[in-house]
Amino acid sequence: MEQIGYLTPLTHQPSSPVTYYLSLGEESITLNDMLGETIQLTFLGEKSCCFCGRKIKKTYNNGYCYPCFTSLAQNDLCIVKPELCHYHSGTCRDQAFGEKHCHQAHYVYLALSSDVKVGITRKENAIRRWINQGAIAAVPIMEVPYRKMAGDVEILLAKHLKDKTNWRKMLKNEYTETDLLQVKQRVIPLIPEEYRSYLLPDQSIQQFTYPSLQVPSKIIPLNLDKKPSIKGELIGIKAQYLLFKNGEVVNIRKHTGYKVSFHY
Ligand SMILES: [Zn+2]
Repeated sequence: MEQIGYLTPLTHQPSSPVTYYLSLGEESITLNDMLGETIQLTFLGEKSCCFCGRKIKKTYNNGYCYPCFTSLAQNDLCIVKPELCHYHSGTCRDQAFGEKHCHQAHYVYLALSSDVKVGITRKENAIRRWINQGAIAAVPIMEVPYRKMAGDVEILLAKHLKDKTNWRKMLKNEYTETDLLQVKQRVIPLIPEEYRSYLLPDQSIQQFTYPSLQVPSKIIPLNLDKKPSIKGELIGIKAQYLLFKNGEVVNIRKHTGYKVSFHY
């Protein structure tokens, strides 16, 4: 079978293992069913902005045209640097976006994907976020009323913990078994008094497993601009990556807006 359409990030359900879907505009494809099968993903040479739909040569920030990249609130610098969130100064690029995404309860969390990292997320988006990062375990440690405060705490904790995922290690499933609640106890003294009232009581740790037939020994990241077609046996899906038997991996979110055909 074949479907043609513009790539959008993989969607998923937090089942065990996580169920992944690829949607190319028609009905979505359950990727878990393709494990062990040969699939082919081919870039057809056309790209379109995931927000306004205009045809473009190059995408910015995973799928946007340049005007959308420079004008939309979701592409502002404060999205990657939440401590710079300026919603409260009334200068957000889009008040409605700020209301919905930033002036909302946020978690500061600990997650294990490659190493233990600290991160923040909108509370209601937490599970989606952890799966998109390929976390195998995660636990929220604080709930704060808005994004900037979460960013301020993250900055403090990131002096002592990583705040990025080593994606190669994550894809190879290389990690050190760690009790996140013990790490929490270790970082509590690092949280300034003024934020302590936002600490959550210990919660059960969320665990995630991902569809996988085998773990790749080498990782070859694939860029559809450089190699427009990949055909091979699908051996795993993790975070936003499809993993092929020959070691090639493709980050679907990175290719948002690329028109592709998908054979399966
Ligand atoms: Zn656009």
